Amino acid sequence: MEERLKEAPCGFISIDENGCVLEVNNRFLTWMGYEEDEVVGKHMETFLTRVNRMFIHTYFFPTIQLHNSVEEFYINLTTAAGESIPFLLNARRYMQEGLAVIDCMFIQMKQRIDYELELRSLQKTTEKAYQDREEAFVQLEKVYAEIARKQNEILEMNNELLKLSNTDKLTNISNRRFFQEELERHIDRYTKEGSVFSLLMVDIDHFKKVNDTYGHLAGDSVLVQLAGLLTQEMGPDDRVARLGGEEFVIILPETNAEEALKLAVKLNKAVENANWEIIDRLTVSIGASTFSESDTEVTILNCADLALYRAKENGRNCSIHYQEIG
Ligand code: GH3
Ligand code: MG
Ligand code: MG
Repeated sequence: MEERLKEAPCGFISIDENGCVLEVNNRFLTWMGYEEDEVVGKHMETFLTRVNRMFIHTYFFPTIQLHNSVEEFYINLTTAAGESIPFLLNARRYMQEGLAVIDCMFIQMKQRIDYELELRSLQKTTEKAYQDREEAFVQLEKVYAEIARKQNEILEMNNELLKLSNTDKLTNISNRRFFQEELERHIDRYTKEGSVFSLLMVDIDHFKKVNDTYGHLAGDSVLVQLAGLLTQEMGPDDRVARLGGEEFVIILPETNAEEALKLAVKLNKAVENANWEIIDRLTVSIGASTFSESDTEVTILNCADLALYRAKENGRNCSIHYQEIG
């Protein structure tokens, strides 16, 4: 055997048609842990496991008989120490001096298989990472949807709370708090745009008598009915609120003193002529005031209050504008 073939970077054996080893190179001996005399003359089966022996007889020998060559044949050889090494076997059959010789070249596959395993494991890790990421995204989307839902709930609750805090429990119309805010808003508009507005302070006449005669619950229902009537009589931009007790207040936007007094008198009539569920007759006294430059949120209320006081003095069931007494 040529010196170069002895040390070539592949295992090399020549076998005869029966599978007996004729020649072997050093590389093969080193890999397999045998001496040359332990290999030459032995059958190739010496290095094979039982499964591989079957394989070599049912595939390798028939193929090489038929085609004179075998390529990329995967086979495991067992070393002298009993270790199994995977090889890629290429073989060529030819005739030499009337006898068939088969040259077999073995390339170790151990590293490649290790690489493949490593590659496959990396692939699995990557796939798992992708899957985890997908699942995390789905989870995140669920969390986002939940946050959005909760935020909406909070918004709705806030709206509900705001409505509750601005509403009078008994009559279900706006309360003093809401009135105070509206008044500030109108004063602001007056300052910025010069929009005139007026106030009506409405107080039930002799309401104590209603309670005394018909009871407190009947009094309550009168308050509810009056709140409905005031709201109904006023325009959509007018703001009716219950100040407390049997006192109501109405903000009239874009309304001067004269118009405010007219509306007040109209209200007196509407209340006087209304059909009451429990009582026969009800009247109110009304004090009106119109915001002017020298006014504040306190003085405009005081003026309406003074006018109301004067209406009571004048015999009730009437309206007085502060300008008439100021
Ligand atoms: P005036 O014509 O001078 O206004 O007489 P009045 O009886 O209406 O006024 P007064 O201030 O003497 O009495 C008001 C009454 O209103 C006393 C109180 O019991 C009653 N009142 C206040 N708030 C409520 C309420 O929420 N429900 C009921 N039923 N009565 C109320
Ligand atoms: Mg009163
Ligand atoms: Mg009263």
